[in-house]
Amino acid sequence: MQCSAIIVAAGSGIRLKLNAPKAFVPLRGRPLLHYSLQVIAALAEIVEAVVTVPAGMEPQARAEVVRAGVEIPVKLIAGGAERQDSVRIALGITSAESEIVLVHDAARPLATPALFAACMDATRRADGAIAAIAVADTLKRADGRTIAATVSRDSLWQAQTPQAFRRRSLIEAHDRAIRERWAATDDAELIERCGGRVELIESSATNLKITTPADLEIAEALAARILGG
Ligand code: C5P
Repeated sequence: MQCSAIIVAAGSGIRLKLNAPKAFVPLRGRPLLHYSLQVIAALAEIVEAVVTVPAGMEPQARAEVVRAGVEIPVKLIAGGAERQDSVRIALGITSAESEIVLVHDAARPLATPALFAACMDATRRADGAIAAIAVADTLKRADGRTIAATVSRDSLWQAQTPQAFRRRSLIEAHDRAIRERWAATDDAELIERCGGRVELIESSATNLKITTPADLEIAEALAARILGG
C-alpha cells in the first residue's frame, strides 16, 4: 500500500532552552529532523514526505533532506499554531494516490524503521495503529501538589509516534475536528472520536520525545548505543 509520511517539525522547542526550533537542535551533531528523514528514506512503501517547519526554516530543512539522502519527493510547508494545525496543513498537500498516511514527530529521533513498518502493516486490519508503551509508573491524580487519587495503571498506555492511518479517514477526522472544535494532542484521538478502531503497537521507551534538556542528554547516550560510535 502506497504511503505518505508527515513529519511534524514546526514546534518552537521553548522548553529545551536552546537557540533553535526543536527539530533543528543537534543530536550527535545532526539536527533531530535528520533522524526521521533517514528512517523514511529506508522504507520502500513511503513514496513521499511532507515536513512542517517553522516559517523561514525551509532552506535549513531542505539541506537536511539532501544530507539524509532522501530520494523521494519531500514537500516542505510552514506549520500551524498547534501540532494539530500542522498535521492538517500537511495532510492537505499529501498525494491523493496514497492510501496510508504516517504521522511522526521530529521530536522522536530514535524511532526505528521496523516500528514505522509495523504501524503501516496494522492499518490493513484497523483504522489506524500507533506506537505506544504500557504505563510502568504508579499514577497519581493531583489537586495542586496534593494527591487526590491513585489512578490504576491497568490498561493504560502512553501514546507515541509514528501513527499510521487511512488517508481518507484522517482527512475526514481533521475536517470534523475543525467543525466541532476538537483539540487533540495526537491524531489517533481524532480517529477514535470518529468511532475508528486504532491498534497499539508495542514500542520502547527508547523512542523518547525530546522535550527538556534532560531528554536530550538521555537521547545522546541512547543514540551512541543504538547507532554506534
Ligand atoms: O511540542 P511537542 O513536543 O508536543 O510537539 C510534537 C511535534 O509536533 C514536534 O516534532 C514539533 O516540532 C511538532 N509541532 C508542529 N507544529 C506545532 C507544534 C508542534 O509541527 N505548531
